[in-house]
Amino acid sequence: MAPWQATVLTLFPEMFPGPLGLSLSGRALEDGLWRLPVLQIRDFAKDKHRSVDDTPAGGGAGMVMRADVAASAIDAAIAAFPDAPRIYLSPRGKPLTQERVRSLAAGPGVILFCGRFEGLDQRAIDARQLEEISAGDYVLSGGELAAMILIDACVRLLPGVIGAEESLAEESFENGLLEYPHYTRPRIWEGLEIPDALLSGDHARIARWRREQSERITAGRRPDLLARKVLDDAT
Ligand code: SAH
Repeated sequence: MAPWQATVLTLFPEMFPGPLGLSLSGRALEDGLWRLPVLQIRDFAKDKHRSVDDTPAGGGAGMVMRADVAASAIDAAIAAFPDAPRIYLSPRGKPLTQERVRSLAAGPGVILFCGRFEGLDQRAIDARQLEEISAGDYVLSGGELAAMILIDACVRLLPGVIGAEESLAEESFENGLLEYPHYTRPRIWEGLEIPDALLSGDHARIARWRREQSERITAGRRPDLLARKVLDDAT
């Protein structure tokens, strides 16, 4: 089977692999567990100035990425990787969740279009049926960092990237809850002790303590997650 692949379309290919070339994801990239082809959108501009943007129809500030140039770049990506979901990173998209990350990591990979300026001409989004995904409710200056967030979250779930499978199973969001707190040696630091339960050697007690902490932290910080979990557990 071909390795998981992220095809990135960007005006700043030199940003990649960037942080994805280090640590877990970087080692996995070197080992061929995933692939990262990067296409320069400007290479698909046809006029002699190789322009990729133009002024907004209807007026206003900023520039808009041209539909024709974007679509040519997207078509080249699709031709090389026909089965991949096509995603436009956009603050108007559905915020990325661990659930969506899991489903993307389980598939063949992704084609990611990184916007710049005011964003992409709507006709390219519609004509190439791009799914819009957001990194969160704030505005970045380009889609590249959002693409890296999506790729990083997927790559760490690929088989062989993280050694111990259990370390994934207990993480935040995996069971609908935020994770419990972690501690390590020394046992006492600045007068602060590691909670007794964790030093008890009693596995049932440790599991119970962690579960209670998870629920307490989730209830305090993200009651929305807890409400959703109660609904999910009921169905
Ligand atoms: N005018 C747009 C913002 C443009 S920001 C608006 O108000 O919605 C320029 C580019 O950065 C976008 O095209 C998008 O690709 C990317 N971007 C900005 N914020 C993002 C976010 N929260 N998630 C994903 N991509 C984002």
